[in-house]
Amino acid sequence: MRLGAHLSIAQGLPQAVLMAKRIGANTFQYFTRNPRGGRARQIGETEIKEWLEERARNDIYPVVAHLPYTVNLAAPPGKLRDFAASVLQEDLERVKLIGGEYIVTHPGRHKGDAAEALTRLAAIIQENVLEGQEHGPMLLLETMAGQTGELGSLDELRQVLDLLDWPPQVGICLDSAHLFAAGWNLKSSAGCDDLVAALEDKFGLERIKVFHLNDSLAPLGSNRDRHACIGEGELGEEGISAIINHPFLGSLPMILETTVEKYEDYGKEIARVLSLCRQRAEEI
Ligand SMILES: [Zn+2]
Ligand SMILES: [Zn+2]
Repeated sequence: MRLGAHLSIAQGLPQAVLMAKRIGANTFQYFTRNPRGGRARQIGETEIKEWLEERARNDIYPVVAHLPYTVNLAAPPGKLRDFAASVLQEDLERVKLIGGEYIVTHPGRHKGDAAEALTRLAAIIQENVLEGQEHGPMLLLETMAGQTGELGSLDELRQVLDLLDWPPQVGICLDSAHLFAAGWNLKSSAGCDDLVAALEDKFGLERIKVFHLNDSLAPLGSNRDRHACIGEGELGEEGISAIINHPFLGSLPMILETTVEKYEDYGKEIARVLSLCRQRAEEI
């Protein structure tokens, strides 16, 4: 099982490997730059070399980058779109440099013109990700809770892939809190089966690459994006157990973005997830 958490790389990438080991993770996610946007930290050659060695020695896989959530890839032409395009291009290049497998992004926001926003999203991906980028990391569009003006339902993500003609560089990242708030009841294995059937129908399962494992403070179908700690939200232990023991969902790399106070607390979250894992219980 690949299980990890969202960590900071402010102290350097080799340090992030140590943090991952300390919490019992074998994968992790990080922000490519400050979540509010801003300038990216420069990663030097020595750091990259040490990082690649530490990563290999500690079997960290996959490495998931996340674009800042202030970046709006669906913004109309203007300053915001220019900023989004340059962040996308620069951060993709930097993830490539450190050998990261995936770069996750929120699909974007609009002011009521969802169809046009999807066209703009497809165009920014076409121009900045697909052109001349055959060997970079895969861009993963995240499923969202469906807050007003927020793109990210399964149907919308399917439309973006249709507009792009299904390039191999674009995939999907799931988030249990977002899906639950969007109305997918993942509290039972039957509910998980329903989601997986829809994923298979709309994308094909090989497009689904990463799973953000979060409990949800917001109720089913509330369309609100509020994460909770594992077992402490509306999904509860029942839902988290249904997800991680599902043959397909449980096979995906799982990243926790729960509401811990300090990163060390992810150690307890990981232990709690593992305690709900049936296969592991049988092994012991
Ligand atoms: Zn996200
Ligand atoms: Zn969220």
